[in-house]
Amino acid sequence: MEIVKTDVLVIGGGGAGMRAALAAREKGAEVLLVSKTPLGKSTCTYLSGGAFSLAVEGISRETHFKNTLQAGKGINDPEFVKILVEEAPERVRELHRFGLKGAWRKGYFACLGKAPSWGAPLTDLLADSARERGIAEKPWVIIFDLLAEDGKIKGALGFEFRRGVPIAFLSKATVLANGGGGALYPRNDNPVRTTGDGYALAFQAGCRLRDMEFVQFIPIGLAEEGSPGLLLAVSLPDAGRIVNSSGEDVLEKYQIVDKPVAVRCRDTFSQAIMKEEERGERVFIDLRALGDKDWPKDNMAMSQKQMLRDRFSCAARLLRIYPTVHFFIGGVSTEPDGGTEVPGLFAAGEVVGGLHGANRMGGNALSEIIVFGYRA
Ligand SMILES: Cc1cc2nc3c(=O)[nH]c(=O)nc-3n(C[C@H](O)[C@H](O)[C@H](O)COP(=O)(O)OP(=O)(O)OC[C@H]3O[C@@H](n4cnc5c(N)ncnc54)[C@H](O)[C@@H]3O)c2cc1C
Repeated sequence: MEIVKTDVLVIGGGGAGMRAALAAREKGAEVLLVSKTPLGKSTCTYLSGGAFSLAVEGISRETHFKNTLQAGKGINDPEFVKILVEEAPERVRELHRFGLKGAWRKGYFACLGKAPSWGAPLTDLLADSARERGIAEKPWVIIFDLLAEDGKIKGALGFEFRRGVPIAFLSKATVLANGGGGALYPRNDNPVRTTGDGYALAFQAGCRLRDMEFVQFIPIGLAEEGSPGLLLAVSLPDAGRIVNSSGEDVLEKYQIVDKPVAVRCRDTFSQAIMKEEERGERVFIDLRALGDKDWPKDNMAMSQKQMLRDRFSCAARLLRIYPTVHFFIGGVSTEPDGGTEVPGLFAAGEVVGGLHGANRMGGNALSEIIVFGYRA
């Protein structure tokens, strides 16, 4: 077995892992990032919509705080929410100063990527910064166990699957940043390698997991026959109408009013679709009345306009939608600095639970990974 030594071992090359690695490197530590793919590639961060929810451009900290708790049904950890709201704008400004391409909008920052990887400017910037600063990387590795000695985590065991070589990574501190587990579900929008490994590693090491019963379904998965499980732009339900097979307005029927509904009401909107399905109804998005003037102008909606018109004839007919698994809300229980109950083990990003309560508000995951990745 090969043995590799480092000060800080970061497991996961998504946004949380790279932000944590950069922070550790700034403090002078020798850092090694291991992941299943090259840095940033095929991660949720890379495939994300690239939108960070923030208290900026006319949205106050109080509003961001209130909306996050409202979406999470009030069971979010308020200390984590406060930290997110207060620190996220500066963390994003910092990335913007480093060269992150994007635009400031009311209540959010949008990366200027291209479909379907809107988050690529973020992962590219973090990966370039990591390499420039001498952070070592080891891709194509699956970590399958953590190494413990005298109750302290001292590294991890991995398998470099392209070479077929087992490796023992020995470290002074280990950061779990392996993301969520959405790909465990048959209908999901996550990259295939998002298999919840971090929860198992943390649990086996003695960490508590919290809120694991909350898995976020996003209501606006396109469910047309022969179509990929495409995630529609979050602005489209507000611009169009959501109707059932009998023509009833579904949002009105279930009193789903907080807009954008696909950002703030993912849980109740998904539940409404499932209730309709149980009644034998189908649920559709009606975009027929949307001309060029009314079509939402955000990047994602604009990028889908031609495809929805040409390939799915959305100007002439209704498009069926169905919830798709999007995000694991629960996860490892940590302190605000990422420390877990097990000495030597830290965690950040989607693998952590507590911030989002029972339902994550859209845009808060990217803000989470840079705030809590930095802190870990
Ligand atoms: C389609 C889509 C759109 C989204 N859009 C948005 C959005 O616009 N705004 C927002 O806030 N959130 C969005 N999200 C959610 C957000 O992207 C994720 O929650 C966030 O990027 C997770 O970052 P992470 O660093 O924790 O995990 P990831 O970015 O998923 O990275 C996980 C890393 O861990 C590695 N890994 C996993 N297991 C192992 C293992 N056993 N050994 C070694 N490495 C391992 C993987 O290879 C990967 O490098 C979206 C999610 C999806 C799927």
